[in-house]
Amino acid sequence: MEVIKLSEYDRRHLETQKIALKCYDSITESERLFLYWLSIPYLMFRQKLDRFTKRFFALYCQEQCFVTGRSACCGFESIMVFFADEIINLLWGDRSQGVNLINRLAQGNKTSSHCVFLGNGGCLWGVRPISCAMFFCDEAKKQIFAKYPNAEIEWNELLKEEKNFTWPDKPILFDVIERFFIRKGFYSPHMHFHFSPGLRRIKEKSGI
Ligand code: SF4
Repeated sequence: MEVIKLSEYDRRHLETQKIALKCYDSITESERLFLYWLSIPYLMFRQKLDRFTKRFFALYCQEQCFVTGRSACCGFESIMVFFADEIINLLWGDRSQGVNLINRLAQGNKTSSHCVFLGNGGCLWGVRPISCAMFFCDEAKKQIFAKYPNAEIEWNELLKEEKNFTWPDKPILFDVIERFFIRKGFYSPHMHFHFSPGLRRIKEKSGI
C-alpha cells in the first residue's frame, strides 16, 4: 500500500479535524443540544451572510473565479481555521461532515494548487470556516460596491456583527466553545482564543 507523505499543513489540519471529531463524539445528547442552542444566533448570522453573498457576490464570483478554475480565494495552504469552526461544522451537520474532511486530508494535496478542501462541487465543509465565509477579494468588492452602494453598507454591518462571535473583547461563542472542551480535558492547536498570544492579550485587556 502506498504511504502518503502529508505536508506539514495537511498533517496539522488532519490532526485538528480528528481532535474535533473526538470532542464531538465525547459529548452527550444534552451537551450537543446545549452547544447547538448556544450557537443559534451564529447560525442566524451565517444565514444572513449567505443571503448577502448570494444576492451580491455569488454570480460575480462564479463567473470570475469558479468557472474559470481560478478559485483565487480558496488558495493553497492558506486558510485560517478556528477550533469552533470545526465543532460548528459537526454540530450543524453530523459526524460524516468531519469524516469527509478527514478522508480528504488523509489523501494529501499534492496535485492541486488550491485549498485541500476544494472539491469539484465547491467547498467540502458543510459550514465553511468564518474566515472563508467573510472573505471577498478586493477586486470583487470594488466591482460590487460600485454597482450596488447598499451592498457596502450591509457589508460593514456584517463585519461589525461577526465580531460578536469572534472578537474576544467580550464573551463570545468561539471562545466559549473552546473553554467547554478544554474543561473536558481536550486540547487542539486550533484553540486560538486560549493559546494565541494576540487573542489572549485582547481577552486580558478586556478583563474576560
Ligand atoms: S475551506 Fe472551503 S471555502 Fe475555505 S478556502 Fe478551503 S475550499 Fe475555500
